[in-house]
Amino acid sequence: MSAAPKMKIPFVDLHAQYLAHRDVIDAAIADVIQHTAFIGGDAVKRFELAYAEHYGVEHCVSCANGTDAIYIALKMMGIGPGDEVITTAHSWISSSEAVSQTGASPVFVDVDEYYTIDAERIEAAITPRTKVLIPVHLYGQACAMGPIMEIAESHGLQVLEDCAQAHYATWGGQRVGTFGDVATFSFYPGKNLGAYGDAGAIVTREGALADRMRMYANHGQVKKHDHRIEGINSRLDGIQAAVLSAKLPFILGWTARRQQVAAWYEEALAGTSGIELPKVRDGGTHVFHLYVIQHNQRDALAAHLANKGIQTAVHYPTPLPLLHCYASRGFTAAQFPQAAREQERILSLPMYPEMTREMVQYVADAINDFSSVS
Ligand SMILES: *Cc1c(COP(=O)(O)O)cnc(C)c1O
Repeated sequence: MSAAPKMKIPFVDLHAQYLAHRDVIDAAIADVIQHTAFIGGDAVKRFELAYAEHYGVEHCVSCANGTDAIYIALKMMGIGPGDEVITTAHSWISSSEAVSQTGASPVFVDVDEYYTIDAERIEAAITPRTKVLIPVHLYGQACAMGPIMEIAESHGLQVLEDCAQAHYATWGGQRVGTFGDVATFSFYPGKNLGAYGDAGAIVTREGALADRMRMYANHGQVKKHDHRIEGINSRLDGIQAAVLSAKLPFILGWTARRQQVAAWYEEALAGTSGIELPKVRDGGTHVFHLYVIQHNQRDALAAHLANKGIQTAVHYPTPLPLLHCYASRGFTAAQFPQAAREQERILSLPMYPEMTREMVQYVADAINDFSSVS
C-alpha cells in the first residue's frame, strides 16, 4: 500500500485566483445584476474598449467563445465552400472545426519542434484555392510570424491568428494577434485570461471588417430589427465581460508569474534524464498557457504522478487530421511525422500563476523519482 501523497497539486486552480481577487470580481458581477444588463450593454462595451486598449489593437469585437470567434472572422473574410484554409496538425479542434463550419476545407500542415505550424512546410500546402493561413500560437508560444507573414504576403493570403492560448505572447517584440488581418481569443475559464463561463473576442485593425463581424455575431443586425444579412447569435454576456474587465489589470502579472513557474520547472528538471522540456523559439516569447514536456514512458509517468497527488493532462492525444471526424479525408500519420511522434510523448504538467516554488519542486521531485527507478 502506498502512503497518501504529501501534497495535492491540481492541474489548474481557478479557485486560488478567485480568492486572491474576490472583492473586485464579486463587485463586478453584482453591478451587472444590479443593472440587469445581462447580454450586451455597458459592461460588454467597456470590456471591448479596455481589451483593445490594453492589448494595443484598434478594434475588439466580443462574442460567445473562441470557436465562434474563428468562425465569425472566416465568414466575414468571405471564406466558404471551395476555399482551402491552411492550419496546424496539432491543436484543439476549434482551429479546423470552424473552417469546416464555413464550408471550406481545412488543410493541415505538420508542426515543428516548438509545437507550432512548421513555416517551412506551408508553401507545399498552398493551392489556387488557398485563401487563409491560421497559425495557432499553441501552449502560449508565438509562431514564427516573420516567415509566416512573408509567405502570406507573397501568395496573397489572409492571416487569422488563433491566440486562444497565447494572450500577450510576442514575436520580435510585437504581440501575437497584431500581425495578421484578424486574431481570435478565447476567454474560456482555464485560458490565461478567463471568464466565468464561455467568452471570446476577435481583434483587427480593419474597421470595416470589425463592423461586419459585430453585425454577423448579432443576427446580422446593424441596429435592432435592421438585419442586413442573416447572422448568428454569438454575444458576450454582461457578467462575463465584467469578470474579464475586473481581471484585465492582473493579466501581465499573471503572465510573468507563469514564466517564473516555467523557469522554476526548467531549473528543477535540468538534470533529469529521458525528459524533453519546452523550448522557446528565438525571437519569440512563451506565455505558458500549458507547460508540456515529453517522455517516452508518458503514460507510466502520468500514473506515477497521479499517485503522488499531481494532476496532469495530454494536449492533445490525437493530431487533428487523425481524429475520427476527418477519417473520410484519409490522412495518415506518415503525413504528419512530427505531430504523430509527439502525440505518444507529450504530457502537460500543472501550470497556473498561483503555483509556488515549493509546489514546482514537489512535481519535479516526483518526476526525478520516476526517472531514477525506471
Ligand atoms: C480554447 C481554444 C479555442 C476555442 O476556444 P473556446 O472559447 O473554448 O471556444 C480555439 N483554439 C485553441 C487553440 C484553443 O485552445
